[in-house]
Parts: sequence; structure tokens; C-alpha cells
Amino acid sequence: MAVSTPNALANPWGAPGSASAQRLLLLGSGELGREVTIEAMRLGIEVIAVDSYGNAPAMQLAHRSHVIDMQEGEQIRQLVATEQPVWIVPEVEAIATQTLLELEQEGWNVVPTARATRLTMDREGIRRLAAEELKLLTSPYRFAETETEYRQAIAEIGLPCVVKPVMSSSGKGQSMVRTEADVDKAWTYALQGGRGRAQRVIVEGFVPFETEITLLTVRAKDGTYFCPPIGHRQEAGDYRESWQPCPLHPETWVECQRMAQIITDALGGWGLFGVELFIAGPIDQPQIVYFSEVSPRPHDTGMVTMVSQNMSEFELHMRAIAGLPIGDIILSQPGASAVILAPGESAEPKFAGIAEALAVPTSQLRLFGKPRCHRNRRMGVALALGETIEQAKDRAISCASQVQVLL
Ligand code: AMP
Repeated sequence: MAVSTPNALANPWGAPGSASAQRLLLLGSGELGREVTIEAMRLGIEVIAVDSYGNAPAMQLAHRSHVIDMQEGEQIRQLVATEQPVWIVPEVEAIATQTLLELEQEGWNVVPTARATRLTMDREGIRRLAAEELKLLTSPYRFAETETEYRQAIAEIGLPCVVKPVMSSSGKGQSMVRTEADVDKAWTYALQGGRGRAQRVIVEGFVPFETEITLLTVRAKDGTYFCPPIGHRQEAGDYRESWQPCPLHPETWVECQRMAQIITDALGGWGLFGVELFIAGPIDQPQIVYFSEVSPRPHDTGMVTMVSQNMSEFELHMRAIAGLPIGDIILSQPGASAVILAPGESAEPKFAGIAEALAVPTSQLRLFGKPRCHRNRRMGVALALGETIEQAKDRAISCASQVQVLL
């Protein structure tokens, strides 16, 4: 029986495993899905975790799990038929979104909407929606599929620019083109780093921003909510530290919320979104806000909210999905997160230094339980609070640096 309304709370809520259990099918079982699983379970929801490999972080906690190729629509369809989920919750971008669109048409509830997962699965869909339809300010951009188009795009955008595969995440295949000498390298690198069969790249003008933020935006039954801005530092296209709040000029903050409201309204549905914005200019005057990207799900930089807010981004996501009220989002204290990366490849990574790490005042750790690693795979995150943002950041970095990933 498919559920046509996102407000599954209209159904009485049975215990996991019972005939009246409310089931959540999680498509993608990484560290973010693991926290969504925990929050779902706290509400007595039955969780079925799915990924392309076994023993993935969320699978270790879920009631059941399945290993499938999530880019194969038929495999998703079969799973939905067997599991009869109330909610289908994509946690990653690499999913057969055409099948999600069809399932939604048939009455299944895709979070936040199948269209949102479709538009955000590649950089082109969301960029065209944001810049061309919604008229949000973005970096200048061109798309290219052949080497000739690519060279043309570089000529039009000018240097410096950033080249990214349209389908990729965590900085894979992304590089900066500073001089003519980088042009060929960036093209080859993008083709190697792209996900799936698409050879398409986006060439973006480089935005000389002061800060970049993630604005966690919750679309829920009782309205749209904004979490205080999260600042972050990226290296090689992947985040290293994040902190909350991130100081902004008051008018900049108003503009950030305006943009986040527009893009999340356009995507629709219920859930939490991570709106990525670049902030250019000094803080003592209104700054220029560029829209960069949006994830229709919790964001990696938002892991800081597990210590800094009364409700984490995962709890907010789950509440919104289930049609529950959000109420007040309260920042308890400045907080920060710092990532723990694997130094190399291993089929059995182990952690050491945990006691030393947790000796850092206010610190907490989340070790994701990833069964294997490669160089720079995110294995855990250190979280900390502080009297100031700087103190929280120093503590989180210090905590993370004590943890050793042994290969
Ligand atoms: P993305 O995968 O698009 O989120 O890019 C990863 C990171 O690369 C961003 O968070 C920025 O730090 C940087 N970046 C991406 N695009 C640009 C741009 N057009 N100008 C400046 N920095 C960028």
C-alpha cells in the first residue's frame, strides 16, 4: 500500500517489526544516514538501510539492510515493493532518480521530493534552476561535453576558474585552472573523477569569497526554519572543519535566508536542506551572497549541530520528514567539527588515540565504523564547544588530530 501523503503520522505508529510499523527506506548508508537512522529509531520507526556495499555505517544500526546497485532503478523498485516503506529517503546523489520520479507518481513518498533528488543529483539541474529560473546570484558558468566545448567555456569564463564534473562529490575530479598550463590537466582530471557515464563538466568563474557557509534550512509542517549559519573550510573540494555560528553582517544574513527560502521552496517537500553559499566582502558592510549548491538532505558540514544545537540536523530532518513540528532551534554555544581522514588504504582500519582525543575539554567523537578505507576517506569527526568560535575550532582540531587511523 503506497502512502500518498507525507504526513505519515496520520497513521497510528506501531513498533518496529510489527504489522503497523512505519518503515523508512534509507538509500545510502554513510555517516549522515547513520545519524538519520538513530533519530528515526528514537521515534520508534523501522529503518531499512541500503547501499552498494555491506556493513556500511547506517547498516550497522538499522533493523535490516540490503546491498544493491542504487543506480539500477529496477533494484530500487523491487526493494520498495518488498519493504513497503512509508518514506523513501535518499542519502546520496548517485541514485536512479528516474525511478524515484516514477515511484512518487505511483504514490510513494520520496523525501523531500523526487524532483529535488533529480535536480540536485547533478550540478547542471540545480545550477540552471537557481541561476536561470530563480535568478539567484551564482558564479558565471558554462557546461561542456567535448574538449572543444571545454576550451570555448574556459575562453568565455576566463581565468581563474574551477572545473568540476557535473556528477561528482567530495571534490572528486574538481580542480582550479589558474593559468593556461592547467587547462589540459583539469579536463583529464574531471573526466577521471566524474560519477557514472556522463562526460559533462561545469566551468565556473572563481568567486573570491571571504567565507563559505552552509545554511541548514528545514521545510516542515509548521513552516520553514533556518539554523544559525555554519562556516566551513574546504580543502581539495572536501570539508575539513566547520563551525557554528559563522559571523555575518546582519543584512547578509537576511539575504542568505531569502535565497535559501527561494531555492528550498522551489524544490519543495518536507525535510532539511543544506544550502551552500559563498560570502564575498568584509563583514563590516553588507556582503555579496552567491548561491553555490544545495543538498536536499543533511549536510556533512552540519555534523557540528550534534553538539551546538538543541536539535541536530538529523533530528530536524527526521521531524520534518515525519510531519512533526520543529518548534525552537536553539544554538547552545559556539561549536565546531573537524574531520578525521584515513591516511591511506586499508581493508581493516583501526583507531588509536581515542582516550587522548577525548581528554580535550567538551570534545566528542563520532567514529563512523567504515569497514574499509582509502586515502582521505572520512572515517570520523571530532566535535567540540567553546566560549568562542576560535576556541571551539581549536578544540575540535586538537581532538581530531589525536585520533590515529591505523592501516
Ligand atoms: P562544490 O563541490 O561545488 O561544493 O565545491 C567544493 C568547494 O570548492 C567549495 O566548497 C568551495 O570551497 C570551492 N569552490 C567551488 N566552486 C568554486 C567557485 N566557483 N569559486 C571559488 N571556490 C569554489
